[in-house]
Amino acid sequence: MAEPVLEIRNLNVDYGLGDKAVHAVRDVNLTLHRGEVLGLAGESGSGKSTLAYGLTRLLAPPGVITGGEVVYHPSSAAAYDVLGLSDQQLRAWRWAETAIVFQGAMNSLNPVHKISTQLTDVLKAHDPKMSEHSRNARAREMLKLVGISADRMGAYPHQLSGGMRQRVMIGMALILQPQVVIMDEPTTALDVVMQRQILGQLIELRERLGFSVIFITHDLSLLVEFSNRIAIMYGGRIVEEAPAATIYRDALHPYSKGLLSSFPALRGPKRELAGIPGSPPDLAGMPTGCSFHPRCPKAFEPCSTAIPVLGRPDTPDGAGRSVACWLHPAEQPVSAV
Ligand code: SF4
Repeated sequence: MAEPVLEIRNLNVDYGLGDKAVHAVRDVNLTLHRGEVLGLAGESGSGKSTLAYGLTRLLAPPGVITGGEVVYHPSSAAAYDVLGLSDQQLRAWRWAETAIVFQGAMNSLNPVHKISTQLTDVLKAHDPKMSEHSRNARAREMLKLVGISADRMGAYPHQLSGGMRQRVMIGMALILQPQVVIMDEPTTALDVVMQRQILGQLIELRERLGFSVIFITHDLSLLVEFSNRIAIMYGGRIVEEAPAATIYRDALHPYSKGLLSSFPALRGPKRELAGIPGSPPDLAGMPTGCSFHPRCPKAFEPCSTAIPVLGRPDTPDGAGRSVACWLHPAEQPVSAV
């Protein structure tokens, strides 16, 4: 496996302080490797977007990181914890090292500025010495890379379709050639055909430019198609992590199975979509034990009282995967690996 570029260690994020704090992300451990697409799936409120905001330190109050580390280039001598960067270091790190495309990003383009200005402004902010000619050339090149003709440089956002605006945002995220790109539901507002076109193009760009992607969505079928590995979140915790093909073929956690049966199968015969009964838990009043137990069709004796630890499962193909479920007690907890 390629070397790790980003390692999230025991990350915890709360909303609020003291007794009233809501624990939105708990004890998350994840590693992103060079050139990898790591998918992060879960229903709304599972903590996946909070995790993205937390690791990039973009949390708005009352969000607060209460523990953990986000280590950049963990295996190199120059490794550093992003949570320890000064504001100035953080500004340089964002966009240049790690870029983010948020939900509905296509609506975050400034309506009164041309596309060219918005693309070149990123370059101007991070590399003030770059000549205007080079900035324009780089912006044109980036537009072409994301499949938009360079003669649209002079267009205003309203003159582009939703898909084109989202491509501009992806181009803007890639313009400084970051090593990590975080995509938070980047294509949810687009139709299915456009979603797949844009994601296919992103994967192609990743192969050419070599960046790594954390791809967040509730649509597990998209992740199965476009990710190398998938982590599933529920109630603020990672409940299963495995290669995408393994999750698709043989998910172990009942919640992962529920998510898979909520979307049409990519291949094979048509099947009934089942969905998951009940609603995601209220983070302010989490169920005891495994937080999925009130909705779990497989719940049994220990589930309502003891929290299962995320770790390597007791299955023959347990290496390289982890699950938090009493049906598959952890042989080795993830935090101890
Ligand atoms: Fe279901 Fe129990 Fe596993 Fe939780 S620990 S997913 S309730 S079987």
